[in-house]
Amino acid sequence: MPQAAPFPSEADRRTLDALADTVFPPRGDAPGGAAIGAGAYIAAALAGAYAAHAEEYRQVLAALDAACPGGFVAAAADARARAVDAFEKGALPGLPPTTDRSSFDLVWRHLREGLFADPEHGGNRDFSGWRLLGFPGAQFGYRAEEQALDTPVTRAPASAADLPQSARLPPLPTLRRGRVPAEPDAVVIGGGAAGLMLAHRLVMAGRTVVVLEAGPPRTGRERAMDELSATAFRNEGGTAKFNREVPTWRRHAGERARRAVMSQGLETALGGNSVAWGAVAMRFYEDDFRVRSSTVARYGEASIPAGSTLADWPLSYADLEPFYAQAERLLGVSGQAGHPADPARSRGNPFEAPRSDPYPMPALRTSGLGALFAEAARAEGYHPFPLPAAIATTPWRGRHACTYCSFCSRFGCHVDAKASAQNTVLAEALDSGRLTVVTGARVLSIVTDESGRAVGARYRDADGELHVQGGGTVVLATYAFENSRMLLLSAGPRHRRGLGNETGQVGRHYLTRQQPSVYGVFEGRLLNRFIGPTAQAMAIADLSADHFDHSGLGFIRGGRIAAFNQYLPTEASGVLPPDVPRWGAPWRDFVLDAYPRTAMLFIDPEMLPYESNGLDLDPDVNDDLGRPVIRITFDVHDNERRLIAFLQERALRIARRMGATRTWTRPALTGPISTHDVGGTRMGSDPRGSVVDGFGRVHDTPGLVVVGGSTFASLPAVNPALTIVALTLRAADRIIADGGRA
Ligand SMILES: Cc1cc2nc3c(=O)[nH]c(=O)nc-3n(C[C@H](O)[C@H](O)[C@H](O)COP(=O)(O)OP(=O)(O)OC[C@H]3O[C@@H](n4cnc5c(N)ncnc54)[C@H](O)[C@@H]3O)c2cc1C
Ligand code: SF4
Repeated sequence: MPQAAPFPSEADRRTLDALADTVFPPRGDAPGGAAIGAGAYIAAALAGAYAAHAEEYRQVLAALDAACPGGFVAAAADARARAVDAFEKGALPGLPPTTDRSSFDLVWRHLREGLFADPEHGGNRDFSGWRLLGFPGAQFGYRAEEQALDTPVTRAPASAADLPQSARLPPLPTLRRGRVPAEPDAVVIGGGAAGLMLAHRLVMAGRTVVVLEAGPPRTGRERAMDELSATAFRNEGGTAKFNREVPTWRRHAGERARRAVMSQGLETALGGNSVAWGAVAMRFYEDDFRVRSSTVARYGEASIPAGSTLADWPLSYADLEPFYAQAERLLGVSGQAGHPADPARSRGNPFEAPRSDPYPMPALRTSGLGALFAEAARAEGYHPFPLPAAIATTPWRGRHACTYCSFCSRFGCHVDAKASAQNTVLAEALDSGRLTVVTGARVLSIVTDESGRAVGARYRDADGELHVQGGGTVVLATYAFENSRMLLLSAGPRHRRGLGNETGQVGRHYLTRQQPSVYGVFEGRLLNRFIGPTAQAMAIADLSADHFDHSGLGFIRGGRIAAFNQYLPTEASGVLPPDVPRWGAPWRDFVLDAYPRTAMLFIDPEMLPYESNGLDLDPDVNDDLGRPVIRITFDVHDNERRLIAFLQERALRIARRMGATRTWTRPALTGPISTHDVGGTRMGSDPRGSVVDGFGRVHDTPGLVVVGGSTFASLPAVNPALTIVALTLRAADRIIADGGRA
């Protein structure tokens, strides 16, 4: 048998280097892609982390060679450029067929990793990529002065590999091993933010709980300060489960759904997305809970957009306020309270609803960029405030204060300043002796008895063995997509359409945040936006909810505008104005010149629910176990298009007043899977329009409680997790009050 030639061969490596230099050419004395090590990085990754892409690369390199007489390496610069141009356009003969992305998309992402990811992965040789950008790498302990505008960074670049081991590899939390109780008071499906918060509450009240978590155990500090291993790139968190069951997406019924492209990876490991989150922890506004009735009262019934299923929540802000206060203490939220009565005196959000307690800790400090935003926003007549965050600004219950490092959203926190389920509730819950966490337990369905009551969960363990875990109450806490899917896949004789689906409501009222941000480049300035957490942001709520008069505007509700921090090089090298190409000298020049000078004004528009948007089981696409994945039907409607255009125009005004010399906007439709995916198991008082009540109890299935954003009735212009935790604590108290038998 002839041996297959090794790949990549020496010749392939030279082609990769030539490609790296064509995509990122040298500039003067500055190295190009090959010298920075981007080609070598890909060659090494093809023998390791990216081995699955080897065949695709083989075909791409052969196609590039065939496009140039004498081969790609020997070709003149203009011939190489023509080949890469055709490669990008998908017009190069011999390119492999792909479905949800092009081969250029893949190669471009890998080249960016080789240029700008941590050198510990084999590219960015001697920090040469970072030096070109002025990015100092894996750093922490940043001082306020270093975040001042126009302050050159003087720190020598550092790799995450050089961090003290204590910061990188703390001991794993000891999960209780041994016998799993057959009939605990509750079995919780999903050990993420909501599931572990609920389990903690129950065990602290003396109940026994088994948590079934599909993913592996982890401390929550993994992936500290390493951009490449974060969810959006190598997707370690996602591969555990989510990557094998990625939902499909279509915009309208009747269209063929395709694999949805994730704007953020979703973490399927212990702690769920409470580890990767950005920790913006903000309460909803009072009128968010009566969104339909307050809109109708002010603007009339006709103001509700045609086809919208907008509804009030079955509880008020006052009902939830005590749980918000508890959630803020549990998570350790830092913030600055607003003074609704006197906005002029307030540094906080003047629209904030009444609070029973102050924020547990003072707000994160204001960066130079934040101060610039605040000044411009004030000049436009708005009331800027620091976003509240579940990030410790002083030592808090064994957690350290934030070190303002550069790697926060999508990363584990190296000092546990950012709240996760692990560093807030897990240890105490395990110490109670009443919690058992089974990791690697992928739940396939909820088990019901002859009466139709939920009595347990059927799961597959890490070795593929099937088990049934009983529980007095069954709690479903697996994030929006899996919550709907689990109910639909648990159909039985008493629930022929699935659990909770007697009135056909499961999957309806799905909502997902669009991210139509505005970008601005500030010629001649240094913003140092790579320092500090995303949540270290100044924001305005003047255009949120119904905080302004909508008469004559053609839309209802609003959105938040915020100047977020955290701008990491691999991701940043893909953030381009529409007129900048993805390769060659123009791309290189834009990336190098704009990196330290680019700000993003992030827009969180409120999204309304519509009849035509929703989740169901895909009839054509299955997961690795042969079970249908979720099919998302989602499009942006006219109300939101007009709202987004309005918010972008206001954000552009702020950006220009801040001094931006070049601005651009993202499209209105940025797709589903936004990390703010909610609905599908909506809460309400009437089973004809909802799946669960205000405590998460499923209307048509006794013994079953659903927690998480899937129960939201609407998606206000506020991040969801604090409300998820508050609702979860309320649901837990109800389970306890119901005697552990919902
Ligand atoms: C990068 C990023 C940034 C974010 N930033 C913010 C922010 O700043 N502010 C904010 O409010 N929100 C933010 N979010 C969203 C926030 O993290 C989520 O709203 C929150 O984690 C949802 O909690 P959950 O428990 O419902 O789901 P998750 O935390 O996702 O937990 C679900 C758990 O269920 C497990 N699971 C899934 N299916 C099964 C199954 N079949 N069997 C067993 N277990 C299963 C998963 O492995 C996971 O551990 C962010 C999310 C991400 C990814
Ligand atoms: S909270 Fe975020 S920015 Fe602060 S130290 Fe932790 S990861 Fe870094």
